[in-house]
Parts: sequence; C-alpha cells; structure tokens
Amino acid sequence: MMESCIFCRIIRGEIPSRKIFEDDDIVAFHDIHPAAPVHFMLIPKAHVESLAHADDTHRDVLGKMMVLAPRLAKELGLNDGFRTIVNTGRVGGQEVLHLHMHVLGGKDRLPPMLARN
Ligand code: 5GP
Ligand code: ZN
Repeated sequence: MMESCIFCRIIRGEIPSRKIFEDDDIVAFHDIHPAAPVHFMLIPKAHVESLAHADDTHRDVLGKMMVLAPRLAKELGLNDGFRTIVNTGRVGGQEVLHLHMHVLGGKDRLPPMLARN
C-alpha cells in the first residue's frame, strides 16, 4: 500500500513533483491538475490514509501543516486569503488515499466552496 501510494512515491522521489517545501515530517508540492491559479498540497511524510485515520500520534504533524500552510501561501503570493481543503473518504471525494491538505488561491475570489440547494 505504501509501496504503491502515489504520494509516498512522490515523497521518495520516484514520481517527479514541483516541490515547494520539505522537512523531516512534511512535503509540500504543486497539484498536477491545479483547480486555481495557485494550488498546492501539504502532506505528512508518514503514510496516513485520511483525516479519518488520524489519531493523537498525528497531532504534531497536523498542527505543523496548519501553521505551515499560511506561510507557504504567503511565499507564493497569496496575500489576500486562500482556501484549505482536506477531502476525506468516499463522501469527501478523496481520490488519493494519503492524507493531504489542499491550499488554493489566486488573484480573484474563489467560487463558493459548495453550491447550496
Ligand atoms: P483529492 O481528491 O484526493 O483530495 O486530491 C488529490 C489531488 O492530487 C488532485 O487534486 C490531483 O490533481 C492530485 N494529484 C494526483 N496525482 C498527482 C501526482 O502524481 N502529482 C501531483 N503533483 N498531484 C497529483
Ligand atoms: Zn502514502
């Protein structure tokens, strides 16, 4: 599972990516199919399937990701806000089963997060 996981393979450098940041615990890289002018992802280096699989042992890395997101957003010019998204499981529409936080932004206001009925 960790062998074939796309994001684990990106972490190991087996699949190329446009990396923005890396330390012992976290990697950030641009999304291959951006949904906004700036669209990158933060992921823990340790394989965790989703936010629904996180537990107390992940508190530090999740906290680090939260604090890192605005710092990287600013470095990429998102000075007037951005959106973070963590799709989780089937209902959340998660496609890659390695926990990741999307960060999206650009010049213009993003569309509504979800259409209301
Ligand atoms: P999810 O729907 O799971 O929240 O988002 C998965 C995201 O990963 C998608 O936005 C998709 O474009 C991105 N993605 C999938 N495969 C790759 C890849 O090989 N490289 C990069 N950089 N992004 C990927
Ligand atoms: Zn993984």
